[in-house]
Amino acid sequence: MRTSTWKLLALTTIAWIVPAMAQGPKLYIMDCGTIGEMDMKLYNLTKEEVKGPLELVNVCYLIVHARGTLLWDAGYIPDSAFPADGSPAKNGVFGATKKLTTQLAEIGYKPEQITYLGLSHYHSDHTGNANLFAGSMWIVQESEYAAMFGGEQRGIQTRSSYEKLKDAKRITLKNEDKDVFGDGTVVIKTAPGHTPGHQMLFLKLAKFGPVLLAGDLYHYPEERTLDRVPTFDGDAAMTRVTRKKVDEFVKQTGAQMWIEHDKTTHDKLNKSPKFYE
Ligand SMILES: [Zn+2]
Repeated sequence: MRTSTWKLLALTTIAWIVPAMAQGPKLYIMDCGTIGEMDMKLYNLTKEEVKGPLELVNVCYLIVHARGTLLWDAGYIPDSAFPADGSPAKNGVFGATKKLTTQLAEIGYKPEQITYLGLSHYHSDHTGNANLFAGSMWIVQESEYAAMFGGEQRGIQTRSSYEKLKDAKRITLKNEDKDVFGDGTVVIKTAPGHTPGHQMLFLKLAKFGPVLLAGDLYHYPEERTLDRVPTFDGDAAMTRVTRKKVDEFVKQTGAQMWIEHDKTTHDKLNKSPKFYE
């Protein structure tokens, strides 16, 4: 009698623990297109210095947590710009073969179901589909918001791609971090320099381990190894200070740092509907 009670208790405990452990976040990696070869001078690099491909990738990420979802970065080419026959979309050096909404639908989500929106920064290659998420809670640094809507349109900025965010509900940060779901597994990290309110996303994945989606802290790995800051960074000195802090953070946490635009990093990763957890 006593044994079976213990057995029952043990089974009940296991049943309770297993779903609790399964509640860590999932990371889905979505194809938001490519950026064709650019003038390497923009990155203070030469073609010869870059070992990998010169083409960059554009990536969007969906984080699914027990307490909600977060879309991180929104590509360059909006879904609305795809030809009606479903063929790839192209605009200058930018191309895309898959709509973001199609990729979200594949795993059962509509844009209006996404709880939070986070953009690493306001540059046009990260805001393409931002308007689709104007119903989400937008997490943005105050200084970035000011750059996005204050004064005249700046370089590498397409205000029409995110104009619906202007009056969206939002959490405004003062160049600070934000623990999105309150359990330390999904944290937006302030990383100013590239733009005033540039930010990154830190994930604690239960099985895969910690990952840092570094936004545009770097575009090519050689910016890191050769200490180069792109010419279009808003504040190069601040970028260097941020990069040092990030090196420390990566060392402390043991996180893998993924340069979002780096094709070599991206090609090796599992893409949605596969996921990391
Ligand atoms: Zn970018």
